[in-house]
Amino acid sequence: RIVFLNGSFLPLEEAKVPFMDRGFLFGDGVYEGIGVLDGRLIDNEAHLERLERSLSEVRIPNPYTRAEWTSLQGEIVRRNGMQEGFIYFQVTRGVAERDFFFPENAKPTVAMFTQAKAIVHAPAAEKGIAVVTVPDLRWERRDIKSISLLAQVLAKQAAKEAGAQEAWLVDEGFVTEGGSSSAFIVTPTGSIVVRPLSHAILPGITRKSLLRLSKEGGIALEERRFTVEEAYEAAEAFLTSASNFVLPVVSIDGRPVADGKPGPITRKLRELYLQMASAPALA
Ligand code: PMP
Repeated sequence: RIVFLNGSFLPLEEAKVPFMDRGFLFGDGVYEGIGVLDGRLIDNEAHLERLERSLSEVRIPNPYTRAEWTSLQGEIVRRNGMQEGFIYFQVTRGVAERDFFFPENAKPTVAMFTQAKAIVHAPAAEKGIAVVTVPDLRWERRDIKSISLLAQVLAKQAAKEAGAQEAWLVDEGFVTEGGSSSAFIVTPTGSIVVRPLSHAILPGITRKSLLRLSKEGGIALEERRFTVEEAYEAAEAFLTSASNFVLPVVSIDGRPVADGKPGPITRKLRELYLQMASAPALA
């Protein structure tokens, strides 16, 4: 596997990051993850825009222009012969003697890799997945895509140990989002409900596309918070993320969502998303 590190493409085994990297010592960095279908990056402009915002919020200089990022991404996809999967990349504040204050002359560390993965024909997309709710223990700037993911690691491991595939994080009785996904329910009257953007959640890029597709498809949408109790009573539930697109959620805390099968609105939205992602990018 070929990865990218600080200006070079090289075999994974040869890609080494210095011991004093602030990403390693402090989790001082931000990242992005983008879905790849038929060798094309899905919604890349929106991901690069979110990267720019994350970097500027934590005051790490952006090492590349959007055009440079795009060409590096294209090259890593080509070099790995990637058709379907995921591109991950992160930027840390760089290497310096351990000290909390920003280093004066550190250069950001840039690392990028690809992961091949079946997104379109994933079994989870057919059967749906189970989620469990856990307290949202994260910091108050969840809109920044920080590489400090300890709370998500613990939440998702708790979900796994409870037999589920994702954790839905709960703050003051309301679901914020998934450990690594945006959370949606469908009301008994057929409206999609999703939490509005704020510092409490990551602005999901797949969420954004899904909202556009649901408007175009004439599906009612309510951007508001929902409680765990409302989710238990929902007609359907689903999640979105760049590496999964749209996945049905068929059980929450061990209770089946409606009849415990993926619902029609979720199926329709997944179909619309797949159509969008499969269409050749407009010039
Ligand atoms: N929320 C969180 C906390 C996430 O980690 C992710 C995945 N990056 C998402 C939502 C979904 O965002 P996106 O659709 O941009 O992948």
